[in-house]
Amino acid sequence: MDDLSRFCCRNADCPDHGKRGHGNLTVPARYGPSNTRVLRCSTCKARFSERKGTPLYGTRLSAQTVTAVLAHVAEGSGTRKTARLVGVHRDTVTRYIRQAGEQAQQLHDELVALSPPDQRAPTG
Ligand SMILES: [Zn+2]
Repeated sequence: MDDLSRFCCRNADCPDHGKRGHGNLTVPARYGPSNTRVLRCSTCKARFSERKGTPLYGTRLSAQTVTAVLAHVAEGSGTRKTARLVGVHRDTVTRYIRQAGEQAQQLHDELVALSPPDQRAPTG
């Protein structure tokens, strides 16, 4: 079963637009090397990529890699340092920074919804 709770219909004219975890989305198809899901809204019948509106849309990198790039940048790593740590070209880092700036609010929603793993040492 696909977890679609962090996705919502992206059709601005749809009555269920922006409602995450509303139960109106299904996965009729997948595409690309990462098996990116095509989502379909049962309310308005719109189809769209799960990556649309995120820094992942149109990328060939894995979601993990893109998230790592942006996480390093968010922590204050420079472009060169980020590129070295993640193992991508620094032009790639620059491109994602630029894209992410334009999509900052949506990126925020995606990253917050993802609940990154807690890396603190266990206590107690
Ligand atoms: Zn819809």
